[in-house]
Amino acid sequence: ATPISIMVGVGRGAGEGVLVKNAESLERLEKVDVLCVDKTGTLTEGKPSLTDVTISNGMSEDEFLSLAASLEQSSEHPLATAIVNAAKDRGLSLKKVDDFESVTGGGVRGKIDGKSILVGKRALLEDAQIEVASNVIEQVEAKQEKGQTVMWVSIDGKMAGTLSVSDPIKETSQAAVRELHALGLKIIMLTGDNAGTAKHVANELGIDDFKAEVKPEEKIEKVKSLKAEGKRVAMAGDGINDAPALAEADVGVAMGTGTDVAMESAGITLVKGDLRGIAKAVRLSRGIMGNIR
Ligand code: ADP
Ligand code: MG
Repeated sequence: ATPISIMVGVGRGAGEGVLVKNAESLERLEKVDVLCVDKTGTLTEGKPSLTDVTISNGMSEDEFLSLAASLEQSSEHPLATAIVNAAKDRGLSLKKVDDFESVTGGGVRGKIDGKSILVGKRALLEDAQIEVASNVIEQVEAKQEKGQTVMWVSIDGKMAGTLSVSDPIKETSQAAVRELHALGLKIIMLTGDNAGTAKHVANELGIDDFKAEVKPEEKIEKVKSLKAEGKRVAMAGDGINDAPALAEADVGVAMGTGTDVAMESAGITLVKGDLRGIAKAVRLSRGIMGNIR
């Protein structure tokens, strides 16, 4: 393509909420055949809210929620925000936390009034040798199949209860998937969330394939392995944990609603986080590149 036609394309994208930082990204989009996409904050709103609390140690719901929220105050994860907001909505007071520690992709831990507390995924409790009741596992799996994310809570080495949150799918995601499929792209969702929740979202949207419980370093590995197979790969995401994969992809696409780190690592930013922008950019790219051949 001529430099002028690319400049025109960049300008046209900007008018439609597609900010092209790196003109080569726009050129490369023409031939992209796989889009890897993060779930939370990319396909979903990324603003989960608390939907359900179960308690297995006889504590009051307020006491339980206040402990969990106290611990989550120090975490920047959207799941943490959901718990803290729920506690604030109920007017609960939060306590001081000692020895706070955040386990990336796992949860949080710390001490409150001398009690050790864990909030996070099941493996976080299991790794600490805490027994989780099989009837609770069944209840949790049923919630996950409905698309909820469930966090487990333990106090002083004993299972104490669960907190469920739900994160609605963005209104625009369905149309985006349809448009991208019409353009011939395969879509693979990569998420740190569990398989049940991931499957629900993938099914709702008609996504071709997904990988759940993905660690941040595994997102970049997946992009690398697709490239090694000869695929041209785009990656869309919003989080710090997506940034390395955005940089590794042939075309990185960040959500303008996401973290600065993601935007710095990507060649293209979708101002309002509307994934239909990727389809627009692919059409723009094919137009530009087609013009001069
Ligand atoms: P995602 O890709 O969905 O943002 P992460 O890799 O950040 O996933 O987290 C994976 C899982 O670890 C979450 O689904 C949750 O179960 C658990 N987790 C992570 N951070 C927290 C937290 N602050 N509080 C509770 N659970 C957490
Ligand atoms: Mg995300």
